[in-house]
Amino acid sequence: MYENPDGVMIGLEVHVQLNKLKTKVFCGCSTDYHNDPPNSHVCPVCLGLPGSLPVINKKAVESAIKIGLALNCNVEEHTQFYRKNYYYPDLPKGFQITQYDFPISSGGYILIEGEDGEHRVGITRAHMEEDPGRLVHEGTIDKSKYTLIDYNRSGMALIEIVSDPDMRSPKEARRYLDKLRNILEYLDIFDGDLEGALRVDANISIMGGQRAEIKNISSHRGAERALLFEIVRQKNVLRRGGVVVQETRHFDEAREITLSMRSKEEAHDYRYFPEPDLVPLKISGWAPAIKATLPELPDARRMRFVEQYSIADDHARALTSELKVAIFYEEVAKKAHPKTAAVWICDVLKGELNYRDLTIEAFKKEHMLSVIELLVSKKITEDGAVDIIRTLLDKGGSPIEIVKEKGLMKVEGDIVSMAAEEAIKENPAAVADFKAGKEKALNSLVGVVMKKTKGRADARAVREILLGNLG
Ligand code: ZN
Ligand code: MN
Repeated sequence: MYENPDGVMIGLEVHVQLNKLKTKVFCGCSTDYHNDPPNSHVCPVCLGLPGSLPVINKKAVESAIKIGLALNCNVEEHTQFYRKNYYYPDLPKGFQITQYDFPISSGGYILIEGEDGEHRVGITRAHMEEDPGRLVHEGTIDKSKYTLIDYNRSGMALIEIVSDPDMRSPKEARRYLDKLRNILEYLDIFDGDLEGALRVDANISIMGGQRAEIKNISSHRGAERALLFEIVRQKNVLRRGGVVVQETRHFDEAREITLSMRSKEEAHDYRYFPEPDLVPLKISGWAPAIKATLPELPDARRMRFVEQYSIADDHARALTSELKVAIFYEEVAKKAHPKTAAVWICDVLKGELNYRDLTIEAFKKEHMLSVIELLVSKKITEDGAVDIIRTLLDKGGSPIEIVKEKGLMKVEGDIVSMAAEEAIKENPAAVADFKAGKEKALNSLVGVVMKKTKGRADARAVREILLGNLG
C-alpha cells in the first residue's frame, strides 16, 4: 500500500491534436502544415474574421467518440459546443469554441502501473475544441522582446482529456501519459511525433493545499520534472509558514523550473455560453458502430501475448507499450521461438535501439529471425548474437555475413574440451585455489578457456566441462 507521505494529488489535462485528419475542425484548411511557412494554411474561419461561420468536421467527431470509448467513457446522447471567452492574440475571435456542459464523453478510466501495482486513474471527461494559433517567443517567455504568431495551427481539432486528480507522484503522472499516448497510438488518430501533437497541463496540490496549474509542458519527461519541482516549491512555501496560492504557472523547459504567470481563472471568468453558430449534435446512435471498429488496445494485446505466446508479463508489457514493436514482435514470434524472441527484442534489441536513438524500423524482422534461428540451433553464443545485432545497427549487412566475417560460429565439442584440459594444466595455482574452496578461481579458468576459443565457446558449457574435469 502506497502511503503518499506528502499528500500529492495530480490531475492532468492532455490536449491531443487530431493531426491525421485531412482538414481542420471547423473549416476546409489542410492539417498538413508542419513543413510549410507560417500563416500559409489559413482562411476566414480559422482566422476568426467577422461573418465567417464554422462547419463541424464529421471525422473529428468520430475520432472524439473513438477516444472516449477507448478510455472507457460514457458517450453522451447529445453534445454541444460553447464559446469560452478570453482575449489573447493566439485566438483572434476573442473566444475558443470548446465544450462545457454535454462534452462528448465522460466518466471513464485507464489503468497504469502505479506506485503499488495496478492503479486506476479516472477520466473526468474528453471533449472537443479548436486549437489556438501558436505563439513564438524569442528566447524565454519572461525575457522575450517580441512575440510572433502562426495561425496554421489555429482551428486544428483538439481532444482535451481531463483526468481525475488520482495520481500520487510525478512518476505516476509520467506513466499515465505514457499509457494514454500508447492507447492513442493504437487508435491511429494522431501522429505523436509531430510538433505540438500532445500537450499537457498539470494540476498539483500537496497536503490538502491549493492547487497550482502548470502550463506549457511538451514532453512526458518535462511533466515529471515540472511536478518534481512543484512539490519541492510548495513544500518550501509551507515550511516557511506561507500559503500555496491557486495560480497558473509556466514551465520553463530549459531551466526545469515553474514560474508564476497569473492567478488561476475560475470557470465563470470565461463567460461560457452555447455557440449559436453550431447546432447541438445528436450522437447517441454513433457509438455502437464506432465501437465495432475499435482495434485491440494495449491491455488486451498484452494479456493475449502472455496467453498465446507464454511470455512473461513484463515482456508483454514492454512489447505492447509501442504499437510498432508489438507488430514487429508478433511477426517474428509467428515464425520463431516466441519466448526467445521476447527476451531478445525486449532485453537486447530495445536497449541497443534506445542507445542509438533509433526506432524499431531501423531493424529488419528477417534479421531478428536469423539471429534467433542461429541462437536456437546453438550455432552462435549469446555474446555472438549481441555482436551481430550491434553490427547490423552500426554497419548494416546480414547476420550470416557477419557470422562469417567475424568468425562467430560457436566452438563446441573436442576443441572446447581440449582448451579446458590445457587451462587446467597451465594454471595449477587456480586449480589448487578452487580445490581449497575458492569459488572465484573457477571464473578465472573459464576466462582462460574463453580466451583460447576467442570467445566463441558457450561460457556456461565451459563451466560445466571444467567442473567435470576438476571433480
Ligand atoms: Zn481555415
Ligand atoms: Mn483546453
